[in-house]
Amino acid sequence: MSHPIRVSEIFGPTIQGEGALIGQPTVFVRTGGCDYRCAWCDSLHAVDADYRHTWAPMQAEAVLAEVARLSGGRPILVTLSGGNPAIQPLGPLIEAGRTQGYRFAMETQGSVARDWFADLDMLVLSPKPPSSGMGVDWVAFGACLSAAGEVRAVLKIVVFDEADYQWAREVAGRYPSLPLYLQPGNHTPPPPGDDAAAVDHAGIEARMRWLVGRVVADGWYGATVLPQLHVTLWGNTRGV
Ligand code: SF4
Repeated sequence: MSHPIRVSEIFGPTIQGEGALIGQPTVFVRTGGCDYRCAWCDSLHAVDADYRHTWAPMQAEAVLAEVARLSGGRPILVTLSGGNPAIQPLGPLIEAGRTQGYRFAMETQGSVARDWFADLDMLVLSPKPPSSGMGVDWVAFGACLSAAGEVRAVLKIVVFDEADYQWAREVAGRYPSLPLYLQPGNHTPPPPGDDAAAVDHAGIEARMRWLVGRVVADGWYGATVLPQLHVTLWGNTRGV
């Protein structure tokens, strides 16, 4: 038996709400545990150790069986999220799923590289900007890109303010060949255990308009600016 995966939640099908695969039907597998603690994390139920008791240790076969149950047995895009899914042993899940026709996209901050990144269909690297309170280890980040090899890799950066925006420009300069997605941050993330917490939609939309304005004013035509569609549709509600 392989090491179990710590699973916070498996849900769907729904649509991917952000980034390069926005709008695509998918089942989410959210793993528990993260080596970061971002100031505005919107998934604290999968990060905070107080919620560790809710993270189920599951074998890859059991995870895949649940994904198949949810998708009606039809192959679907599986989105590996967290927490930081890179700290979980996901290689056997991806290998088994791909033989059954499932596709796998994973989002990680890029702090831990794994050789199984090369088996993904897409790697979304989401380095955290200054407003997160976290720092990026660019050596580890580069190792993640190297591990992905020929796999399609994209950058996604959450932007809350001008300092984040300028930082995103620097990151784009560092990795000019990677598609880059900018996303206005949600400054009203749910406290863990309260997914009914109100979202400041007007505030997020104002940040989106500001972000579009900054990109256009700078002639930064290589960037793609997208809102979090699931937040627009469902607020902070989990499992959708
Ligand atoms: S890396 Fe992601 S999951 Fe981890 S604390 Fe930051 S926002 Fe939350």
